[in-house]
Amino acid sequence: MKPKIWLSSPHMSGAEQTYIKEAFDTNWVAPLGPNVNGFENDLQSYLNEDCHVAALASGTSALHLSLILLGVSSGDEVICQSKTFSASANPIAYQGATPVFIDSERDTWNMCPEQLEIAIKDRMTKGKKPKAIIPVHLYGMPYKVEEIHKIAKEYNIPVVEDSAESLGSQYKGQNCGTFGDLSILSFNGNKIITTSGGGALVTKTKEQKQKAVFLATQARDNAPHYQHSHIGYNYRMSNIVAGIGRGQMTILDSHVAKRRSNHELYLNSFKDNNNITFLQEPEGHFSNRWLTAVLLDSKETREDLRLALEKENIESRPLWKPMHQQPIFKDSPSYINGVADELFDRGLCLPSGSNLTNEELDRVISAINTYFAVC
Ligand SMILES: *Cc1c(COP(=O)(O)O)cnc(C)c1O
Repeated sequence: MKPKIWLSSPHMSGAEQTYIKEAFDTNWVAPLGPNVNGFENDLQSYLNEDCHVAALASGTSALHLSLILLGVSSGDEVICQSKTFSASANPIAYQGATPVFIDSERDTWNMCPEQLEIAIKDRMTKGKKPKAIIPVHLYGMPYKVEEIHKIAKEYNIPVVEDSAESLGSQYKGQNCGTFGDLSILSFNGNKIITTSGGGALVTKTKEQKQKAVFLATQARDNAPHYQHSHIGYNYRMSNIVAGIGRGQMTILDSHVAKRRSNHELYLNSFKDNNNITFLQEPEGHFSNRWLTAVLLDSKETREDLRLALEKENIESRPLWKPMHQQPIFKDSPSYINGVADELFDRGLCLPSGSNLTNEELDRVISAINTYFAVC
């Protein structure tokens, strides 16, 4: 059996261990310490000096705290992009609120502005103004920021920007992760940089960050004994994990460049293959190309190709199954135009890691060429 080629695997710089060793040497083995502050500062300087970053246990916990900061509670409705990973929607349910799912548009595969406006109007007619909107920059491709935020502003609904897949992406020259009233990042094992597991909340004010850190560290009131007047959470990032993050920040830009070059290579290799189409960057959109996703001509081709790659020990994966199709969310309202379902049927993510070698990429490309040559 040939060695396994992964979809997207961790890629260390080497600098991580210096920060981890320092944490051990100074005994900062806790959910606070110099690496936590250092990683937050690194992220702030990368994103935009005016933002505030709280390093947390995961992207999911960052989304959960966002909804808590916005006062989302039982019986509320929160709008969420349907085509995404379930972690975008689950925190809505943690709060006892109901997700309202919005279909995609074709240019970016992200939240459709038209469906968004239809949904807001319809929910308001039914007596429920949505408490927040969660759009996602899927696979690193920025959503239509201007269109979505214009609608959000018009109806005065805050945006929680799910930037879990899009650190290093930009919209009109501004970094993804800085557009939302609150924004979240993820450093899970398969993301463009990883801390093994981790995430961050990006806020506009220092007070919001302080409130998030307070809630993330068990909501301890200022007293010598343990006193609580809020429900708290154990959501802070540890100083060891943050050390990995500091090492990863040194190579973020090169990871973006490599993932974009993987995408470019696939694009050039299959430009004469009419069965495969790629997602283009619309004007003003700069994608980190976290994952290269392609569309095949049918669901059957997509599945056959996936199995053909699996036989070669190459991992590939269908696009995210829309949330409005998930058994757990079947009773949630959804505003559908058919795009997300079609993308789910026809789409396949190809190996996209920043640590893929030329030999590995050649193996993927020839496996795909062989599949189309014989069928
Ligand atoms: C990975 C991911 C998350 C969750 O982040 P974790 O750090 O794994 O909790 C949320 N939203 C999207 C779109 C993701 O891809």
